[in-house]
Amino acid sequence: MDLVTMNLLVNFLLIILPLFLLQTIYLLRYVYRFKEIKGWVFAIFPVISVLLCMLFPVAFDTHFLWDLRGIPFILGALYGGYKLGFSLLALILFVRYPMGGDGFYVILITYTLLLILLIFLSRSFLKMSLKKKVTFSSAIILILTILTMYLASQIFTLSMAITTQIEYIVINVLGMVMITVLWEVIRTNFDVLQKLMKADKLEIVSHLAASISHEVRNPLTVSRGFMQLSALESVSSHMKNKYIETAIQELDRAAEIINDYLMFAKPALEKNEKLSVLEEVHHSVNVITPLANMNNVKISVTELNCEKHMILGDAKKFQQCIINILKNGIESMSNGGQLRINISCTNNSIDIGIRDQGKGMSEEQINRLGEPYFTTKEKGTGLGMMVSFSIIKGMNGIINVSSEQGKGTSFTIKLPAS
Ligand code: ADP
Ligand code: MG
Repeated sequence: MDLVTMNLLVNFLLIILPLFLLQTIYLLRYVYRFKEIKGWVFAIFPVISVLLCMLFPVAFDTHFLWDLRGIPFILGALYGGYKLGFSLLALILFVRYPMGGDGFYVILITYTLLLILLIFLSRSFLKMSLKKKVTFSSAIILILTILTMYLASQIFTLSMAITTQIEYIVINVLGMVMITVLWEVIRTNFDVLQKLMKADKLEIVSHLAASISHEVRNPLTVSRGFMQLSALESVSSHMKNKYIETAIQELDRAAEIINDYLMFAKPALEKNEKLSVLEEVHHSVNVITPLANMNNVKISVTELNCEKHMILGDAKKFQQCIINILKNGIESMSNGGQLRINISCTNNSIDIGIRDQGKGMSEEQINRLGEPYFTTKEKGTGLGMMVSFSIIKGMNGIINVSSEQGKGTSFTIKLPAS
């Protein structure tokens, strides 16, 4: 392999590296819920790529700097629109100018013209299918490389071996094809992950629906029985009152189950508010109790000094986190058992312990817990724990897990008191 090809391939590597960096950042954003990471982060890829390409170019000539910066420049402008496009152009000219040589003017002309074209085409590009996107972006890079070479040879009389020219064009076009495909794969990957995370909640909601209707039937039957009793003439008025009271209690219980379930199932905007720990845990237990009953699982809640303790967060998110953990606990006890929730509060922190008597986890399973798509269940999504971990992280808390195979698992959530 000659030096030029080698250098071009190194350049290609410099384009791929930031792309993987970007993917890692995206993943971190989902797993650890880094809210600060917004859409602009995606600009990292083209900016770093352009910089690296220009700093480690394939130099044929003192006047001209040959590299693959066209690829991140074109993709940046197509995906990011005019703001990113102009920033990239400014960056390129800024880095290129001090290096001197005629090449600067070739770049100034070709890249500015190209950018104007790209900005016009950016919208329709985003709507294209993958195949069209690839064809389109590689056609543009083809035009760009041919144009810069033509200008360089005609106006500035640069002479270059024909094989080198062809090599340069081919690597540019092939690089563009690969990067466009990679970029689309990364984007689709995260779109799918986002949709699945929503689907994870839907799955719980639909899973619970059946057990809820079952659960509500009980109090209804009981209160019907007491109403009938109180209608009997032989019953004293004192007893009648007692029966009616019990019937009302049962009806209240049914209403509470339905309310909590609907509250949980309804989508809502994310809020950051003061929440009572006891209340939220109580609501979550209400939502999951029907499922627990169906699986012969008894849930018990004990608390220590928590009546007035508040935490900062979103009620639904927090409930979802607790429910995910409770649901896993129930599912781990295929023959039923006890699920113990223990909440204890001190002045500035709140500990929530959730312990099951299920099958437990191996060391390797504990380590992989919270990884997207990690599941050992036939119908599992492997997203529940990831969502729970990220919610707690978002509330500045920590989760610890300890587990023994055959004995059970215990989760400890530590949250700062508000
Ligand atoms: P899913 O429940 O859809 O499998 P999760 O992210 O909720 O996805 O859980 C991932 C995996 O972690 C489960 O498949 C299971 O193997 C393990 N796991 C989680 N909680 C428990 C638990 N309480 N007991 C045993 N295994 C658990
Ligand atoms: Mg789960």
